Amino acid sequence: MSMEQSKIPQATAKRLPLYYRFLNNLNQQGKNRVSSKELSEAVKVDSATIRRDFSYFGALGKKGYGYNVEYLLGFFRSTLDQHETTEVALIGVGNLGTAFLNYSFLKNNNIRITKGFDANPEKAGTDIGGVPIYHIDQLHEKLEGIRVAILTVPATEAESITETLVNEGIEGILNFTPARISVPDHIRVHHIDLAVELQSLVYFLKHYPLDIKKK
Ligand code: ATP
Repeated sequence: MSMEQSKIPQATAKRLPLYYRFLNNLNQQGKNRVSSKELSEAVKVDSATIRRDFSYFGALGKKGYGYNVEYLLGFFRSTLDQHETTEVALIGVGNLGTAFLNYSFLKNNNIRITKGFDANPEKAGTDIGGVPIYHIDQLHEKLEGIRVAILTVPATEAESITETLVNEGIEGILNFTPARISVPDHIRVHHIDLAVELQSLVYFLKHYPLDIKKK
């Protein structure tokens, strides 16, 4: 990201991939404009927030016209580095890791899991979903050029693997283990705990039921 783009507030930046995916779909359907109301309904973000977010991108919607899809896509592509391919390593090819390798959730953009690593020697040397799997001891020789890693190892292994990854130059970690890992300040960790998310959904359903009648 350029200096100028890095001034976008973090909350706005987090919504970028969401906007990007929706606008990409619109573009593929041949639509060249979109209203903030349409966008708001599709991405479930209120339209005032969308208008504020888009003003950071220099996209000022016109009344009765909305936003120009191509302009926005051009902006998002350069901001999200869609022109460059980002390689991602997946550490821990167990049930969850294997599912990620087989599921092409990254189809629409230029981020790709290109290497998997596992401590199990039987998994090393195999290929899952077209991604080669290496033994974890090969991290040093195989990780060159990769700055992002997905962590799907057992929680007990998370801390020590993280330390190794950081020493190998990884800068961003998407942590799917329940472990809270500690990293130096220059390393960014995003944490996704599926069990916690599910528990929280069930809790909200129970204690904060949505007061909207079924259609
Ligand atoms: P499986 O049934 O294949 O073991 P799982 O998801 O139930 O899958 P976990 O115990 O969560 O198993 O381990 C996930 C994966 O992480 C396994 O494939 C395991 O071999 C691998 N693993 C465990 N320790 C390490 C480590 N230190 N470095 C890399 N991979 C590891």
